[in-house]
Amino acid sequence: MQYDVVVVGAGPAGLACAIRLKQLKPESRVCLLEKGPTVGAHILSGCVMEPAPLDELLPDWHKTPPAICVPATKDEFVLLTKTGRVRLPRPPQMKNHGNFIISLGSLCAWLARKRLGASPNR
Ligand SMILES: Cc1cc2nc3c(=O)[nH]c(=O)nc-3n(C[C@H](O)[C@H](O)[C@H](O)COP(=O)(O)OP(=O)(O)OC[C@H]3O[C@@H](n4cnc5c(N)ncnc54)[C@H](O)[C@@H]3O)c2cc1C
Repeated sequence: MQYDVVVVGAGPAGLACAIRLKQLKPESRVCLLEKGPTVGAHILSGCVMEPAPLDELLPDWHKTPPAICVPATKDEFVLLTKTGRVRLPRPPQMKNHGNFIISLGSLCAWLARKRLGASPNR
């Protein structure tokens, strides 16, 4: 089979790459190869997502968000001890207001549906 582009790995980067290629050149033949049994199966599970790249790639994504996508409303930075915890000042890079708590695996399956149509696992 002949393709214009073969992307290896259906992680967030490969999926975003394949989606962007099809947005820029819909007639191009793009093959996305994934070694896992399903898209998302080999992706680490929990994650805090900074949404700016997704806003740029799929501006309407909020209308039909991934299944697990919870706005981060409160940040705490604590040192856990044997008996309790000590609240520490939050480093600026740990500020998550505006970010989302997601499952990266389910985000990938959701992105694959955006890219491939009905089935996330084709
Ligand atoms: C413990 C941990 C916590 C993290 N927490 C966060 C967080 O809170 N927020 C955040 O933004 N980021 C977080 N990250 C980083 C984030 O997971 C990565 O930046 C992101 O997954 C990278 O995406 P990727 O598409 O480059 O690679 P990956 O997510 O690694 O995806 C690669 C894909 O390619 C497939 N693949 C690999 N080799 C082949 C091959 N030879 N043939 C076919 N398919 C192949 C794999 O199966 C996989 O599906 C965390 C990472 C770790 C390890």
